[in-house]
Amino acid sequence: MEIINYKGKHWSARKADHIYIVSIDNHSNIVEALTDFIRDQKIQAGEVTGIGAVSEATLRFFNPAAKKYVDKTFKEQMEVTNISGNVSEIEGKLTLHLHITLGREDYTALAGHLLEAKIQGAAEFIFYPLNTRVVKIKNEETGINLYDFET
Ligand code: FE
Repeated sequence: MEIINYKGKHWSARKADHIYIVSIDNHSNIVEALTDFIRDQKIQAGEVTGIGAVSEATLRFFNPAAKKYVDKTFKEQMEVTNISGNVSEIEGKLTLHLHITLGREDYTALAGHLLEAKIQGAAEFIFYPLNTRVVKIKNEETGINLYDFET
């Protein structure tokens, strides 16, 4: 097995064969740090999963009728019980699409599309890169970015 360690802007990682273990620095922003990671490592496609804890998070809800996003920020300590997402190329840039489930102090859960969240505690991710380029293009009918396998 080939093992290589990497460090970037607010993240550190270990690559074991083709899979990465990624840690984000405390008090850093998840989406910002992971976006730096995929662009630094030139991960063109693949899956990411993660767990950890945050002190605040902004979730985004898409209203299909209005074709508009509604964002809401929650400022409280929460467990990241799951982040799941993927990597694709949008308008020439490697981009993450992340969803998150957050556990509150009263053990209820919040969930949604993750716009940004600030780590408060651990931040543990596994990246499974795929050896292909995959492009998303904005679909005018739905108003969202969808896979375009012809590109
Ligand atoms: Fe989403």
